[in-house]
Amino acid sequence: MDKKLKYAIGAVAGAAAASLPVRAAFYREKPVEETPMPEEYVDVDRFRKNLSDAIKIRTIATKDPAKMNWEVFDEFHAFLRERYPLMHEKLTLTEVTRGSLMFRWQGKDPSLDPIALLSHQDVVPISEGTWDDWTNPPFDGVDDGEFIWGRGALDMKDHLIGVCEAAEALLAEGFEPERDVYFCFGHNEEVMSADKTNGAVCMCDYLAERGVHLDAVLDEGGAILPVNVKGVINKDLAGIGIAEKGYVDVEVSVFAKGGHSSQSPNHTALGKLANVIRDIENHQFKAKITPMMNELMVKITKNVSYPVRLVTCNYKLMKPALAKAMSYIPPAASMMRTTTGVTMASGSPQPNVLPQKASAIVNFRIYPGQTVDDVIAHLKKVIRNKKVELKILPGWKNPSAISPTDSRAYRWIEKISMSMNPNTVVSPYLVMGGTDACHYQDVCENIYRYSPFRVSTALLLTTHGTNERLPVAAIENGVAFFKRYIRCVSSSRDA
Ligand SMILES: [Zn+2]
Repeated sequence: MDKKLKYAIGAVAGAAAASLPVRAAFYREKPVEETPMPEEYVDVDRFRKNLSDAIKIRTIATKDPAKMNWEVFDEFHAFLRERYPLMHEKLTLTEVTRGSLMFRWQGKDPSLDPIALLSHQDVVPISEGTWDDWTNPPFDGVDDGEFIWGRGALDMKDHLIGVCEAAEALLAEGFEPERDVYFCFGHNEEVMSADKTNGAVCMCDYLAERGVHLDAVLDEGGAILPVNVKGVINKDLAGIGIAEKGYVDVEVSVFAKGGHSSQSPNHTALGKLANVIRDIENHQFKAKITPMMNELMVKITKNVSYPVRLVTCNYKLMKPALAKAMSYIPPAASMMRTTTGVTMASGSPQPNVLPQKASAIVNFRIYPGQTVDDVIAHLKKVIRNKKVELKILPGWKNPSAISPTDSRAYRWIEKISMSMNPNTVVSPYLVMGGTDACHYQDVCENIYRYSPFRVSTALLLTTHGTNERLPVAAIENGVAFFKRYIRCVSSSRDA
């Protein structure tokens, strides 16, 4: 290499290295001076009793409406009527479809678009063989002073009771919203149907038929996660879900003559299917840092400690390498691409019979911006065996739209969260599972998925699992958030 060039490169690299400490010092979020918001009264004891009793009512939905245990939902409705009398007296309640409740709180200014807060009443059942693993029985609603235990404690009777507590308290205080406020409590979110049997679909249709366009929708999704890695970061991470992934199961089948296994060919249908699976797994969707992911990464890299920022201030340069590295870590990769999971396979029904058909089911979680059609096109491209048959199984859905992070509702969520704890990093993120919220896309652009309860990652993982429980310490701020959210977002003011 030319000596001069060598010196030049050295000088540039040296200057870059020398400027690192300065760059790292400036590579951080500007501290915002949040004016504290007025205190909110929260009846924590009432919340505790009501959540505990709500858990005792086993609101498990079934996919087939004919098999639904409607009595238990009627019981839940009667429970809400008894515990939240003002909501039932002052708001208009419509059972839009059997089981799904819609409350409308009429606002003072009909010219303003209403807002909606969603919650689902149903919970998932307890997996067979796991009942005895629970520290406290899943439907006893045990409150041991530290936690409220049971199915639905996090998903999402805590949220539903929180919203009701906020509404009841605001009504008692004489609060009147400027906009209409809707509370939409679906009855079958967990069975993941997307047709007219789905409570959320019916409620959205109901609003659309009446020409209602919503200013904002708030549903379950993100939570407030304490993130504490010694010397690196000690913050609360409030993830606002601004989009959710799509879902499709594709049955991939290979056919053959079949026959007696004593005269087996070199490759049976199952053997040929193995090659198909290999083609699929070897051609994963491309992972990339999308604008949504980028916003999350910038937030995190700016909020780590100064010594770590000496590295993370180079985030922009590191982006391509980072994307590559993250694609090897499944939880990280799932935030950056459509995921491919080969989950089931079948061949012949008996050991001594050659399969006439061999099938595998591949589950895809589709990244916003792609569709079910894109998944099929991708499969057709990467599978070399062109005789393969692809079948889309029922229950698919395309990813949601991406909600903006510069809307009034988003700004309010950010402001309220920061005002409650300035040591919070509020960031958009992608919801991996499904929610009712995506069904409201026809009537709303600003859809946010966020539960304002501070819950550790370990606890969050009990959702749909064993020992699901809500920390009592998370209640006060959770309900206060909902009160402030209703106050602020139902107004015409901006944050
Ligand atoms: Zn849920």
